[in-house]
Amino acid sequence: MSRLIVVSNRVAVPEAGKVSAGGLAVAVNAALKERSGIWFGWSGKITEQPSDQPAISMRNGVKYAVVDLKEDDYQEYYNGFANRVLWPILHYRVDLAEFVRSDLSGYIRVNKNFAEHVSKIIEEDDIIWVHDYHMMPLARYLRERGHKNRIGFFLHIPLPPPDLIQALPRHGEIVGSLVHYDLVGFQTESDRDNFGRYLEGRGARPGNDGTSYEIAGRRVRIGAFPVAIETESFARRARHAMRTNFMKDFRASLTGKKMVLGVDRLDYSKGIPNRLEAFETLLRTAPEWHERVTFVQITPKSRTSVPEYAEMDRYVSTKAGQINGEFGDVSWTPLRYVNKTYSRSALAGLYRAADVAMVTPLRDGMNLVAKEFVAAQDPEDPGVLLLSQFAGAAAEMGGGALMVNPHEVEGVASALRRALEMPLAERRDRHARMMTVLNTNTIDHWAQNFLDALTDPPALDALLS
Ligand code: UDP
Repeated sequence: MSRLIVVSNRVAVPEAGKVSAGGLAVAVNAALKERSGIWFGWSGKITEQPSDQPAISMRNGVKYAVVDLKEDDYQEYYNGFANRVLWPILHYRVDLAEFVRSDLSGYIRVNKNFAEHVSKIIEEDDIIWVHDYHMMPLARYLRERGHKNRIGFFLHIPLPPPDLIQALPRHGEIVGSLVHYDLVGFQTESDRDNFGRYLEGRGARPGNDGTSYEIAGRRVRIGAFPVAIETESFARRARHAMRTNFMKDFRASLTGKKMVLGVDRLDYSKGIPNRLEAFETLLRTAPEWHERVTFVQITPKSRTSVPEYAEMDRYVSTKAGQINGEFGDVSWTPLRYVNKTYSRSALAGLYRAADVAMVTPLRDGMNLVAKEFVAAQDPEDPGVLLLSQFAGAAAEMGGGALMVNPHEVEGVASALRRALEMPLAERRDRHARMMTVLNTNTIDHWAQNFLDALTDPPALDALLS
């Protein structure tokens, strides 16, 4: 079997007692676990003089090769171009993009530097799997170095329609360079189709198979590969978590009240303000729910040095304080707003204890929290998932979740009320429908499907002929 080389911005080298708040780490570690693989990327450290050689470590049969970044690389490539330009534009927030030419230069510089390192690791039969928006042009630089390996790319975040992609300065060099991959995977069919339309706008010719395009002498295949979770083990984790003192104490603190849960990195794409406003609307319009419901919003801070995130932080904490000030009482805190990062086991318990999860992003590639919440439920007495139509997860969970438009605050408030009051039979039925999907597409299937599509030349050639 060919070796697998995974390349991503951050490499989560497993370390005892540490958890990552990102979905990527969880998904990729599971994919590498069973293959002899190397994961290459940034160590997460910033140093004055990064070494010419990546630092190598072995954990559970996976080799990790990491490099440090210089301060200006970190500022321009990561904070600048990736997180202040690509992230907002690909999440449909052109209004929040802050484009600076030197940031784009930094992005290209780091991608070329990564390509140089990866180029030294690659052997002829290796398969290379590149992840996410930080690394879009990587294949182009590997091709320039003569590598003919199969290279796949998976975009974990959304891809907007061509008109919005075109708001990205020099988009052809960034999004357009994805044609240097053999396979480009997206979270949803809608993202995939947006890319197809973008390529056609650049003169690409669609193949007869409906999954490939020809452009500038290259053939690129595109597909939807919705990222998934370890459904069974997550459910087990949730059952076990209920026996911990952490969960016993937490449940005792609810004193019989219903619990609504939100779990999101502090990010403007997650729709946290709209959600808090919906909860506020419920409290204003349904006084019978006073003293009977507690909203727990778990929100680890992220990208704190990016100004738009600091702004969001201020707004959300002020709003949280205002809701408690207006509706709370000495014996009841309606909203518990927490900026801590919790272990996956603690989260699994909190999901299981929740009566409703509010997953209401304005735009999200997939949203693993939605899937984890469903997997963690007790099938005999499951909680209700309230889900934004703009989460990638909506394509799969739509059959069982209560779907909402996060922009319509009153609509979200009524859906929340309906969720709190939903009869057991309906809750069971909705939960069962979502579990069928989660049992069919697990994280193992996800990785397998992507790698099969990337590595199976007969199937690929038959499709492309
Ligand atoms: N997560 C965690 N601890 C926390 C909050 C979140 O481990 O305190 C995990 C959560 O279980 C999920 C991931 O972080 O697996 C978030 O993934 P998602 O796709 O929902 O959002 P992202 O942060 O990747 O945009």
